[in-house]
Amino acid sequence: MNERYSRQILFSAVGADGQEKLSKSRVLIVGCGALGCAHAETLTRAGVGFLRIVDRDFVEFSNLQRQSLYGETDAKERLPKAIAAKNRLAEINSEIEIEAVVADVNYSNIENLLKDCDLILDGTDNFQTRYLVNDACVKHNKTWIYGAAVSGYGATMTIQPNELPCLRCIFETMPDAGTSPTCDTAGVIQPIISVISAVQTTEALKILTGNFDSLHKSLMQIDVWCNDWRKIKLGAPNADCQTCGQRNFEFLEAESAEFSAVLCGRNAVQIAPPKPSDLDLQTLAGKLKNLGDVKQNEYLLRLTVGEYELTVFRDARVIVRGTDDVSIARSLYAKFVGA
Ligand SMILES: [Zn+2]
Repeated sequence: MNERYSRQILFSAVGADGQEKLSKSRVLIVGCGALGCAHAETLTRAGVGFLRIVDRDFVEFSNLQRQSLYGETDAKERLPKAIAAKNRLAEINSEIEIEAVVADVNYSNIENLLKDCDLILDGTDNFQTRYLVNDACVKHNKTWIYGAAVSGYGATMTIQPNELPCLRCIFETMPDAGTSPTCDTAGVIQPIISVISAVQTTEALKILTGNFDSLHKSLMQIDVWCNDWRKIKLGAPNADCQTCGQRNFEFLEAESAEFSAVLCGRNAVQIAPPKPSDLDLQTLAGKLKNLGDVKQNEYLLRLTVGEYELTVFRDARVIVRGTDDVSIARSLYAKFVGA
């Protein structure tokens, strides 16, 4: 057995058998921001045989404080995160296969991305994509590990369809667009990323080595700043759950689920949430005021940040000027408005 993995093999719950299983495992990492970087690094070092990393963004200097796979050169060159991650991971472990996919994960590609994988890890920054991943994983009976972090707070839950509650059993409806804090509006510190990712990737190692009895079977909520660690025990899946009970996969259907994105004129994209929200623009202006130039009236808010201008309406619809690339517009929406 490879010297590289000797300490992990010595850990009796993994052993030589577990290592062999890891080498034959295929994992999809959805989103390669702070959490995704940490997942990818851990699983690469652990010797998981195949990793598919999907991300729609490019590296920026504001990522370097917590997104551990990227360096200043990546930010200067504005490399796509999936590519920069693959480059770094290949230096760490050349014995595994890494596939980088530069794409916006949505209803049209999620099923193909996960079909040939054993496990899916959540490294996304928005609930829209998590509900989509949840629908696809329940439909194809794939285990996925939810994780989220903002400020000094994070949460994680392992979702084994039919065995444990799914995301929608616990959070029945998606938070209204524009109502949740994001790392770009509320900030985030690196240690909470390490903690949440540590729990997620430990669960991944348990699953991939067949140690299902050791799963934590809870919704874990951790605040490293306020010293609050909570574990909410999970019961059985909810029979009335739209996703795992009724098997109604609405997020996989284009019209009902997607944030609609339409080009409106030259160099502008409109992003609209699946259901209208009633945003408090005053509060949003307060959250955004340090990130760019903010102007606001009763009906709309205008944020100018770098080369982009976002006009946010009270129903949470946003017109992004400065691009005709839908995935850039969706990414700016997730960062500054939150979805
Ligand atoms: Zn459910």
